[in-house]
Amino acid sequence: MTMGRKQAIVIGAGIGGLAMGIRLQSLGFDTTILEKLDAPGGRAYVRHQEGFTFDMGPTVITVPHFIEELFALERDSADLTSADFPPEIVDESKRVTTGVSGGPHTSRYVKIVPILPFYRIYFDDGTFFDYDGDPDHTRQQIQDLGEPGDLEGYQQFEKAARAIFERGFLELGYTHFGSMGAMLKVAPDLLRLDAVRNLFRFSSRYFKSDKLRQVFSFETLLVGGNPLSVPAIYAMIHFVEKTWGIHFAMGGTGALVQGFVKKFKDMGGQIQYEAPVSQINVDRQGKQKLATGVTLANGEVLKADLVVSNADWANTYSQLVEPQYRFWNSNLRVKLTQQSMSLFVIYFGFKANGEEAEKLRHHTIILGPRYEELLRDIFGRKILARDFSQYLHLPTLTDPSLAPPGHHAAYTLLPVPHNGSGIDWSQMGDRLTQIVLTFLEERGYLPNLKERLVCHSYITPDYFEQNLSSYLGNAFGPEPLLVQSAFFRPHNRSEDIANLYLVGAGTQPGAGTPSVMMSAKMTARLVAEDFAIDPTIVGGKASPELSRL
Ligand SMILES: Cc1cc2nc3c(=O)[nH]c(=O)nc-3n(C[C@H](O)[C@H](O)[C@H](O)COP(=O)(O)OP(=O)(O)OC[C@H]3O[C@@H](n4cnc5c(N)ncnc54)[C@H](O)[C@@H]3O)c2cc1C
Repeated sequence: MTMGRKQAIVIGAGIGGLAMGIRLQSLGFDTTILEKLDAPGGRAYVRHQEGFTFDMGPTVITVPHFIEELFALERDSADLTSADFPPEIVDESKRVTTGVSGGPHTSRYVKIVPILPFYRIYFDDGTFFDYDGDPDHTRQQIQDLGEPGDLEGYQQFEKAARAIFERGFLELGYTHFGSMGAMLKVAPDLLRLDAVRNLFRFSSRYFKSDKLRQVFSFETLLVGGNPLSVPAIYAMIHFVEKTWGIHFAMGGTGALVQGFVKKFKDMGGQIQYEAPVSQINVDRQGKQKLATGVTLANGEVLKADLVVSNADWANTYSQLVEPQYRFWNSNLRVKLTQQSMSLFVIYFGFKANGEEAEKLRHHTIILGPRYEELLRDIFGRKILARDFSQYLHLPTLTDPSLAPPGHHAAYTLLPVPHNGSGIDWSQMGDRLTQIVLTFLEERGYLPNLKERLVCHSYITPDYFEQNLSSYLGNAFGPEPLLVQSAFFRPHNRSEDIANLYLVGAGTQPGAGTPSVMMSAKMTARLVAEDFAIDPTIVGGKASPELSRL
């Protein structure tokens, strides 16, 4: 600790907390990250079992230049003003599809490679769509799977989604909506772009085929959004993937997390594990309420000039801040906020039969017989349906080192209602595991799986609630509804308490690894503003490599 340097505390070592730690070090703070669990990553925690390595959470890496930007930062030398995004959308014909996709700074810490296809999407009748961003292949598949008119519909969908991407992501991506005025300014654009209609209706406008409506709307489930109710601004996800591809960190997402930890420590930051925070301490100074540090569950008090919470938004306020200090983030607001769904995830290791790559890809989505009604069961009725859709992750097709020789490590993930449902997971967990593994075996995705199975374990919404301290066991923070987006989403600078900030999935702009990295940059800008740090004076230009990305 250097005399005179300001002290910062970050609660939580999720990807958002780590990105924030790196940014605070670059802004000149001495930063300590306090993590409740015994290792970093949060949702990106790694489970090791019988020689298998399972990434427990995020697996689809998008926008690798966000990662490069973090690895390019240096201690006390932030430049938050430039290299926000690559200046232009990458030309489709020049899109990198082979080799290593991380930039030079990233590659000092972790190797990132592109994945093709991005996803294979199976429908219940056994047909599939390989989404790979290749325009000709995409058109061919639309022709084969779609209804008359869908090819023209796709062209229009692309045009509309591109316009949303350019305005919503490239131009407004880093806007922190701290006031209603900022929100009103962009409202006409969103209306003009038809970005407020729900995503499923938006895609249904362009496609007649049910299958294509699903292909071009399911992706929001990966950030906790119900395609039937998220605004069509999320059509940008399709374009983000198409523009910069889908990537994988060799060694698993856990290797990326370890890279962030190393970077943070290389910059002088400190991390304490098994250090749950039980309270954010607040002082009243006249009319102002000021965050002064935190108290750990063991009673230890740590002082700081600023506190950033990477913990779940609802629990940050309702569990860690006394009600007397909260007005905007009251218990009532927490109760009224719709939380995203939760997940049931089975991690399993099995003997390879050498034929997995025939039917499966690194990322395989297996859609069930119902789409809209299943979504209504999960998000609206909050019941556990008999049918399900799943995302099967088979990373050993890309990186065999994640399993013992001759074996695969996999997980399969089912969106399920959050714990507002009243489902008793201690009763349902084993049963659902057997049902899902039997499905994978009997439908021929993984023949004779049960004979080949070496180990398995699972997590339910209870894991999110108890281990990750997520309100109602939500997997992605507040649901990304129109009325819970931008200004209406929790603010990265607390409206209630000075020097208290938030970062991560529950804040602006939202969930998913690229968004939480964006949230760290947005929060860092607010900190710089509040602490009168001129990012250009702090020094350091964005590296020349960045501008080429
Ligand atoms: C199964 C799954 C698959 C996903 N797949 C993808 C994907 O493929 N691509 C993608 O982009 N996104 C994906 N996501 C979403 C993405 O993982 C998350 O949005 C993102 O990782 C959230 O990061 P975070 O830093 O906001 O929060 P978290 O990762 O939840 O980190 C918060 C941390 O705070 C800690 N904490 C909480 N309370 C306290 C306390 N009181 N004291 C100390 N520490 C505390 C927690 O232990 C945790 O480590 C997936 C999510 C899940 C669950």
